[in-house]
Amino acid sequence: MQCELCGNECFKCYPSNVDGVRMMLCPGCMKYGKNINEKKEIIPNINQSIKTSIKRKIVKDVYVGMDKELVSNCSEIIKNARLKKELSREELGFKIGERTVTIAKIENGDLRPSDKIAEKIEKELSISLFEKVKEIPTKISSTHSSGLTLGDFIKSEDK
Ligand SMILES: [Zn+2]
Repeated sequence: MQCELCGNECFKCYPSNVDGVRMMLCPGCMKYGKNINEKKEIIPNINQSIKTSIKRKIVKDVYVGMDKELVSNCSEIIKNARLKKELSREELGFKIGERTVTIAKIENGDLRPSDKIAEKIEKELSISLFEKVKEIPTKISSTHSSGLTLGDFIKSEDK
């Protein structure tokens, strides 16, 4: 191997930085340059390009949860459904991970269950505690696979 600075043959040359130029130097010439770390240089732009390629996914579902509301007599429904299933308040509370006193308060109408609790109760008791706040007209298809006419539909919703 030949030293790029003095031109002497040397057993082993080392990469060094001489005034900004990368040169292979023999040990005797090493003092003229800075030793270069052999690690590959990180391309500075790579992180930036990855970042910009990933589109920021911001989905604001502001209206989710606003189209349904707890039914006004939910305490009654819960109590009836619980009794039907022959569950005690303790048992129901245990099943949904809530305290017995919470169940009691909900059934007495002293506490409005959070959506999360209400959903757990719904699942546990196989009941429906939510009603739609407003009907959003969906596409009226000309085919009624259920066999119901629109009039039947309105009647059944009218109850
Ligand atoms: Zn040299």
